[in-house]
Amino acid sequence: MVPPKKVLIVGGGISGLATAYRLTELSRQTAVPLEITLLESKPRLGGVIETKHQNGFLLEGGPDSFISEKPAALELSKRLGIAEAVTGTNEKFRKSFVYKKGKLVQVPEGFYLIAPSQIRAFLETPLLSWATKLRMGCDLFIPRRAGDGDESVGSFVRRRFGETTLREIAQPMIGGIYTADPERLSLEATMPQFLEMERAYGSVIRGLFARKKLGKKNAAKVASGPRYSLFLSYREGMEQLIRTLVSKMPEVHFKTCAPAVRLSRNVGWEIVVESGVTYGADAVCLALPAHQASRLLEVAAPALSRDLSAIPYESVATVNLAYRRADIPHSLCGFGFVVPAFTKRKIVACSFSSVKFPGRAPEGMALLRVFAGGALHREVYALEDDAMVQTITEELRHYLGVEAKPLFTSVSRYPLSMPQYPVGQLAQVTSLQVQLMAFPGLSLAGNGYRGIGVPDCVKGAELAAETLMAHLKSGDFARAS
Ligand SMILES: Cc1cc2nc3c(=O)[nH]c(=O)nc-3n(C[C@H](O)[C@H](O)[C@H](O)COP(=O)(O)OP(=O)(O)OC[C@H]3O[C@@H](n4cnc5c(N)ncnc54)[C@H](O)[C@@H]3O)c2cc1C
Repeated sequence: MVPPKKVLIVGGGISGLATAYRLTELSRQTAVPLEITLLESKPRLGGVIETKHQNGFLLEGGPDSFISEKPAALELSKRLGIAEAVTGTNEKFRKSFVYKKGKLVQVPEGFYLIAPSQIRAFLETPLLSWATKLRMGCDLFIPRRAGDGDESVGSFVRRRFGETTLREIAQPMIGGIYTADPERLSLEATMPQFLEMERAYGSVIRGLFARKKLGKKNAAKVASGPRYSLFLSYREGMEQLIRTLVSKMPEVHFKTCAPAVRLSRNVGWEIVVESGVTYGADAVCLALPAHQASRLLEVAAPALSRDLSAIPYESVATVNLAYRRADIPHSLCGFGFVVPAFTKRKIVACSFSSVKFPGRAPEGMALLRVFAGGALHREVYALEDDAMVQTITEELRHYLGVEAKPLFTSVSRYPLSMPQYPVGQLAQVTSLQVQLMAFPGLSLAGNGYRGIGVPDCVKGAELAAETLMAHLKSGDFARAS
């Protein structure tokens, strides 16, 4: 019998687990036996995906959903047999709000992060002044940018839609996803669809309308099969994905409380964990935030390590707050709201979690979840838990008129967990890939490279697994080992 090839995966978040799962699938399909060990520094698996249950409430610490537009997470759910546990958002309340001058104002229907795709709703919205609407309409006539290099999201929005659109709507909508400063955030790496629209149609608005038309045509063609809403989760919360992944890989050795401290290359690869134990492997995947991968590679690959450390990350916190529904005067007729940074208020965004997804709060109760910290609110992340909760409850009084104290609160902190793709990110990632070619059997997965969302991480992890498998089957591997 052929001895199994040894694979080490470092990091037990969705990236590491999806890498492991894809490897088990490939091993079965190709009949190449693998011995997979996954090292995780914490006592639990899942990384920032963390679902807690308290007094009948379901609290999400990290992500509360994933998008269906990028199919990798949904496809994985189907392969895992949990497609029927996937739950869409509440159809009755598919709208959100932006904070403006002391009020929460509804985002006009069809507004897509930075631009409108429904004329009537756009013209009627009180969210934007007539001057801003006129300036936004200029997108139809402003010529394409000369040159094809990357630019910041801030520069793109300002150029096509004007300063006020950036400040009052684009920054908070984008901030709610990336907790980033749009002046530094790469357009190419975060919202390439807008760049494409400018290139293909000479206008983002024209591009959005064309996409809508195409969407309608495709929907007409695909009349059967399940239709998914844009945001999805699982009935038992996002951790259901983690638990299922782990349960479907009984052959993988999961080592928790095992922080990797050093990686070296000998005949194959070696990883030393904090306890001093050394693991040897034929192939390694570092499924870590880029700064952690950088630390591990300091000695074995100093240039690669330096480039990885240049990908900036910010810290974010979420605060779940449980209330009696009757204690919140606001109608909560939407999924939540975002707050523009220029207003100098203290939070990034708030989700009405118990409205967004079913089963998040008991009957008669409401669950709110506030996003705090990130590039533009570091001072809030720096607060102690009690002070953070106090700040946030005061903020909620301002937006929603809630005077009552929450029944309970839960603070979750994710230090240096949100990558802030700088301008030029994709070129930098290509350069990392070129450098990796000098290290056969080493691959990288995680949110630091080509997308931060759960589906992006799954896609990156599956690619990393396929690259490793190709290496293990190739002559390169025979030579290296
Ligand atoms: C608060 C928050 C909300 C989010 N909301 C959404 C959302 O709604 N939708 C969405 O799609 N995405 C969202 N994201 C982004 C998405 O959840 C993450 O990008 C993704 O889950 C990252 O997964 P990962 O496995 O790459 O990294 P992580 O989850 O960070 O996992 C890395 C793992 O590696 C471990 N580790 C670190 N160093 C070592 C070491 N030296 N040795 C061993 N193990 C180590 C860590 O303990 C951790 O478990 C959110 C992120 C956060 C933080």
